[in-house]
Formats: sequence, structure tokens, C-alpha cells
Amino acid sequence: MATTDEPVAQQHDVEPVNRRDKQQPLYAARKKIHPKRAEGTFRRFKWLVMAVTLGIYYITPWIRWDRGDFAPDQAVLIDLVNRRFYFFFIEIWPQEFYYVAGMLVMAGIGLFLVTSSVGRAWCGYTCPQTVWVDLFLVIERAVEGERNKRIKLDKEPWSASKIGKRTLKHAIWVLIALSTGGAWIFYFADAPQLAMNFISGEAPGVAYSTVAVLAFTTYTLGGLMREQVCTYMCPWPRIQGAMLDEHSLTVTYNNWRGEPRSRHQKRSQEEGKPIGDCVDCNACVAVCPMGIDIRDGQQLECITCALCIDACDAVMDKVGHERGLISYATLSDYNSNMRMALNEETGRIEPERVRDSDRKLSSAVKHTTIKSVFRPRTLAYFSVWALIGLAMSYHVATRGRLDLNILHDRNPLFVTLSNGDVRNGYTVKVLNMMPEPRTVRVSLSGVPGAVMSLPESSDDPTDVLYLDVEPDKLRNQRIFVRANPAEMPDATMELTFTVQDIFGSERAEYETRFETGGL
Ligand code: SF4
Ligand code: SF4
Repeated sequence: MATTDEPVAQQHDVEPVNRRDKQQPLYAARKKIHPKRAEGTFRRFKWLVMAVTLGIYYITPWIRWDRGDFAPDQAVLIDLVNRRFYFFFIEIWPQEFYYVAGMLVMAGIGLFLVTSSVGRAWCGYTCPQTVWVDLFLVIERAVEGERNKRIKLDKEPWSASKIGKRTLKHAIWVLIALSTGGAWIFYFADAPQLAMNFISGEAPGVAYSTVAVLAFTTYTLGGLMREQVCTYMCPWPRIQGAMLDEHSLTVTYNNWRGEPRSRHQKRSQEEGKPIGDCVDCNACVAVCPMGIDIRDGQQLECITCALCIDACDAVMDKVGHERGLISYATLSDYNSNMRMALNEETGRIEPERVRDSDRKLSSAVKHTTIKSVFRPRTLAYFSVWALIGLAMSYHVATRGRLDLNILHDRNPLFVTLSNGDVRNGYTVKVLNMMPEPRTVRVSLSGVPGAVMSLPESSDDPTDVLYLDVEPDKLRNQRIFVRANPAEMPDATMELTFTVQDIFGSERAEYETRFETGGL
């Protein structure tokens, strides 16, 4: 029994799902977890990240972006029919897929950067599985109550009240799942129009099947399977081990100050027993969405959401100990503190070794700070990531929006006209990547005296042609070029086509051949 004046932390009747001292098969039947709501800095940060990520996902397709009369006004649109990707002022054509590849490379390096700096922060804060599980838990708490009420409800026999609560919870989950799938399809078509068609039953079948599949997976993975997705289905926990090093931040139970744990600290102190700061209240286990006990050390299941830090800090405040018994720490700092606390002769942790006479943590204790994030490895990742980003931004800002491609006729390679001139035929492809109509001036160089004509006016050759090109379109145009072979030094001459926007400075060139057959 604790003495009456001893500050007592609330004890939680909870057991981790993967107790270290129990034999576990590779796949264990699921033990239902009822995470308690945490309060604190990390929980608030998670609410913020959740609001921002969900907001971005649901709202983005409804943002409008004026691109003029000839292009869609949806800010972010994957236009599969016309093979375009619109992202605010950026428009990506299929032949510019390297930008998408570049973004994927950046995402990969970004993940390396984040993991080597702050461990599995992606898993704990921004992974869609984490965000949607959090959202589904909010509904569960709102309908069924906090942890103890939910456990009680689980054990209760079926009654009208239980059926009502379960029906309401699952109905809201299904609505969330449907709106998740629904939001996804709006990225692929004009959102307001598709929404109306969807409701009136006039949307394409693929829209309905996509919503159905995504709603099913959201409901199943986020509502029913929850932590099992992270433990059994996701490859990331297995990969991340290779990216961490001894300076990466991970959520750590500082057993060098926490052990030996004791529920009756004052009594143990009076009995002269060594005591650590852990009051063995299990609050850290009760809030864990993965249902594990961080005091068992680093575990594959831990998504580093840091909710156990919030829970433990609240307990430390209550019992009058310094915060940080569970904290973000590097392995290097942890090892250094552990060396201080460990009695090598007995092999036991003696927490008084890391304390001053006033029971405060010794100034020799290493505290991990944000500075740990800045080290050669993370700076190298950041440099590569930033360089790719800068190179891509520069390329996007300076890329041409006018392109030219030429196919020289192969059969016949040339024809001889009645006046002795030689004529070659070309298929000229002018690509206008602007969302507005353009007129381009076509000119030739490289072949002395060369003139050109369109098939419909082949008797009226000229040295300059004007072509209209529709917005966001490719114009295929047959052009004949003729010249006097007597003026040419070689049987094959290099011929350059140039197109230039008549209202701008943008131009494109293409080099091809002009054949005379040595006449
Ligand atoms: S142990 Fe802590 S950091 Fe890890 S998943 Fe559980 S609550 Fe989150
Ligand atoms: S680590 Fe903190 S929250 Fe967890 S049991 Fe010990 S005192 Fe309680």
C-alpha cells in the first residue's frame, strides 16, 4: 500500500499485445486494443497533422485554377483521357514523365532523410493508415466512450443499446470510407461535374467501382484491421532498420532512470530499495495504438507516434519527477546514460548514479536535442534531395512549350519536277503545349534556294509558312520542300526547319535531310 501523502499515478489494467516474456508465434490471433486518448504536445501535433493531411486530401480536387478557355480549371487534375497532369501552374505531358520520376526519387530520398533523422515519423504522423485509424478511433470514442467504457461494452451481452452504438459507429465508418473513395475519383475528372454525374447515376462505371474498392479497403484496413496492417502487411518496418543509425531519434524508454520500476515508490524508498522513476502505471501501454509496451525496448510494432511520451510526461508531472522518462532519444545518448547508471559488478541499474543529491538528473546526463538531426548523413541526404528539387524547378521554369518533330518521306525519297527542281516531302509535327491557340512561322535553312509549300498550294512555293496550332494540341502538317540540285554541293544536304511563335520569342528547331539523288 502506498502511504497517504505519496502522489499516486492512476494504474491501468492493461497488458501489451506482445509481452516479451511470453512465447509468441509468428502470427498471433489479434487481441483487440482499446487505446486511451492521450493528451499532450505530441497528441496536439498529431491532431494538427491529421487535420492538414485530411484537409489536403478532401479539399484539393475542389480548388479551381484559371488556365484560360482551353484548359481545365481544376488546380490538381490527372486527365487520363487527354494524358495530362495539371498541378496548379504546372502542366505535365506524357513525354515529360521524367518529372514524375524525379518526384518519386525525391520522395524516396525524403523518406531516407526523415527516417535517418527522426525514425519512423512517417509511420507515426503522416502515413494514411495512421491518419485514418486515428480518424476511425475518434468516431469510436465519440460513439462508445473512452477506453474503459469500450472494454465494458465489448464484454456486455448484445442489447438494444449495444446494437445501436455498434450500428451507429459502423455507419459513420462506412460514410468516411465512402467519402475517402469518393474524394479519390475527383482527382481524375472535373470534380463538380463528376459529383453531379455520380449522384445522378450518370458517372462512368469505373468511378463507382473505384469508390467501392477504396471504401472497402479504407473500412477494412482503417476500421477493422488497424495495427495489424502495420505489423503484418507493411514492408516499411522491415526496411527502416537499415536506415537508422545510432544518432537517429527514436521513441525510447530511458530505463537508466526508470528502473527498477515500483508502484510504491515512497515505501520502497523508506525501505532503502533502489527505485527508478517508473511507477509502473501502464499509462504508456494504455494509450499506445499498437498495444505494445515501450519499456520492452525497440519493437517492430512501434510506429513512433510518441503518444506514450505524452502519457508518461503527464504521470511524471503528477508524481513530481522530471519529464522525459520516455522521450525521443538517440541510441548513442541512451548508451552513454546507461553506462553511467549501470553497476558493472552487479549488472544492475542504479538510478541514483544519474542523479544529484537533490534527486534531480545529473548534469552529466545526455539529453538528445534537435541538433542530433544535423549530421553528415542527414545533410548529405538533404543536399541530394534539395539539388534534385532545384534542378527540377529550374527545368520546369525554363522548359519550352513549343516542340517540333519532322518525318522525312522515305518512299519516294525525292521526286524530280518538270523544271528540274527536286522535291522532298515531310510530315511536320508542331506541338503547342500552351492552353491557348498559337500561330507559328515555319522557315528553312541549310539548303540554298529551298522553298516550301503545302499540298493544297504546291504550285505556289514560298520561303516562309504560317501554321495555326490549337491549344494543347499537336498539328500534323504535310510540307513539300523544293530546290534546284544544280545549286547544291552534295547529294544529301542538312535541312533545318524552324518554327517560331509569331507573338512570342519561343522557337523550336529540327534538323533533317534533303535528298537530290546526286542529280
Ligand atoms: S510505443 Fe509509444 S511511440 Fe510506439 S507506437 Fe506505442 S505509443 Fe506510439
Ligand atoms: S514508463 Fe511512464 S507511463 Fe509507462 S508505466 Fe512507467 S511511469 Fe507509467
